[in-house]
Amino acid sequence: MVDATSIHPAIDRGVPTTRHDFKGGTLHCHCAADQVEVKIGAQVAHNHACGCTKCWKPKGALFSMVAVVPRDAVSVTANEQKLSVVDSNAVIQRHACKDCGVHMYGRIENRDHPFYGLDFIHPELFSEPGWAAPEFAAFVSSIIEAGAPPEQMDSVRSTLKQKGLEPYDCLSPPLMDAIATHTAKASGTLRH
Ligand SMILES: [Zn+2]
Ligand SMILES: [Zn+2]
Repeated sequence: MVDATSIHPAIDRGVPTTRHDFKGGTLHCHCAADQVEVKIGAQVAHNHACGCTKCWKPKGALFSMVAVVPRDAVSVTANEQKLSVVDSNAVIQRHACKDCGVHMYGRIENRDHPFYGLDFIHPELFSEPGWAAPEFAAFVSSIIEAGAPPEQMDSVRSTLKQKGLEPYDCLSPPLMDAIATHTAKASGTLRH
């Protein structure tokens, strides 16, 4: 039994206000000591709740919260030796703390990928407030693959809508359009 009203702790308790002067901050893993520390030198973009089975979710959460930043804005500043890649065959190389399991950043190494140049991070790991609030929910149907009962999906989707997070079963239309545009340009179907 899952609680269909419990989307993600940072979303359930009310997302802190976006600050337009937020220029990044520091992410910490959940270890009690010797935390992995990652400095982020940018505001996050495309923050969203993600229901896929690959993104790191806090304990008990139905969704992860994940956003992107330019990869050159990401630097590991403490305890890098504790990081390892969760699945080296995945498109996104998720660098996780070996001790607490928290994913610190996900990186795409394939230069042809539409999202190459962007790293995926979990904004609730910031020590500082002000990161951009989530805008939508992606891969909503995928929470069933993680064990959510199919008959609760209506109630999950209505909770998301109440929180202002439009539910999509893949990415949002602007991101799906960006991927298709990239593909059409790469194939020559669409000229610049
Ligand atoms: Zn850790
Ligand atoms: Zn995901």
